[in-house]
Amino acid sequence: MVLGSLGVLGTGLRRIFAAAGLVGLAACATPSTSYPVVPLAEVDAATLIDQKASVTARLDRQARANAIAWPLLVANADLCHERRAERFGISLGNDRTVRSLADGFTRRQVNAIGYDASPVVLNVTEGSPAARAGIVRGSVPVQVGEMEINGEMKALNEALATYLKARLEAREAGEGDTPPALGAVFTQPDGRRLEVELVPEEICDIPVNVTETDVVNASTGGRSVNIYRGLMTYLTDDDDVAIVVAHEIGHVIGRHVPKQRRNAYVSGFALWGVPLGIGAGLFDGVFGSALERWGGVETPPGRAGMTRLANGVLGTRDFEREADYLGMYIAARAGLDISHAEDVFIGFAKLSPRSTYGERTHPITADRQLALKAAREEIARKRAAGEVLIPTGWPYPVPLNDEAGTIEVERAQGEREAG
Ligand SMILES: [Zn+2]
Repeated sequence: MVLGSLGVLGTGLRRIFAAAGLVGLAACATPSTSYPVVPLAEVDAATLIDQKASVTARLDRQARANAIAWPLLVANADLCHERRAERFGISLGNDRTVRSLADGFTRRQVNAIGYDASPVVLNVTEGSPAARAGIVRGSVPVQVGEMEINGEMKALNEALATYLKARLEAREAGEGDTPPALGAVFTQPDGRRLEVELVPEEICDIPVNVTETDVVNASTGGRSVNIYRGLMTYLTDDDDVAIVVAHEIGHVIGRHVPKQRRNAYVSGFALWGVPLGIGAGLFDGVFGSALERWGGVETPPGRAGMTRLANGVLGTRDFEREADYLGMYIAARAGLDISHAEDVFIGFAKLSPRSTYGERTHPITADRQLALKAAREEIARKRAAGEVLIPTGWPYPVPLNDEAGTIEVERAQGEREAG
């Protein structure tokens, strides 16, 4: 580290430091054993392999998230009201995209592992139109629609935008899905030429992105879902991950983030919450550790009180309950086996004992488990009675396809806000 940062110093200073370093080295302690020393050229070659593996691992994690999310997003497109989009299930990128995936890699490093400025397929979502057409990671787009791609990202983006725009315009003009399919030509990783006709699928436009941190959690900012690497490692069963993703999608379609924001403004919390939060932080900083050490108080009281207050004002716990409820429908409608869905929360209890008695932003585990079980039983009852699977009290219009054709489920007047 020290030698590495010498580059920012002037040459004269660098010499002085280097000389001082040499004098210092003579007095330094050294390891005792004759461990193997590897030639630098071999290290460089192995580094390439490691770097390629690290990029592939990230792409694989995102592919897993995409595959888990896809059926949820397809089956619940009707619950996503205006938040819908047509997707092929393909993600394309170039060296710039890969650099943003592999934090800290230089362009040269990314080029060395096989990515350059020309677009290439990075991921294809399992079960999507692109996957069914035989496109795979490493496929190279040659022609899309009328456009020759010639290794240009710009041409690819233009070609896709032109197609989707024409399709949207035709739909709005009542001409149906015209153009019906996007013709494209790819060069496969094995050199074969692949001609495809892609028809996009309508899905909830809620990207599910992997966040590369080891926290066992997932979150949403209101438009997309972030699923943390820690959660994906902790939950080895894709169906369990799907329950969590469904919960987050529940937050998005339940519009919980804008509702909480609104609650913050209406109650004035947005204003007085900030100085109060800072005050609580200061209080904890001054007294918190002392109370914890001598008073046996486990949580610094100021911040705990703030969280409780925020939870009361913003209604976070109620929104968590609704997200659990909506999540069960979202999962069930996608054909997921939800018969053990509540067990996912035992997993969280094992990880965090606090979640069994003292969660401040979420209901405690047992509460969630029992409510999930009740939701599961409600879904089973509706299924047995041949009813359409819509969350009870769902306030938004939902066009539904059943055997009789398209029907409209009762419309509520505008958006029903939670208090
Ligand atoms: Zn939640």
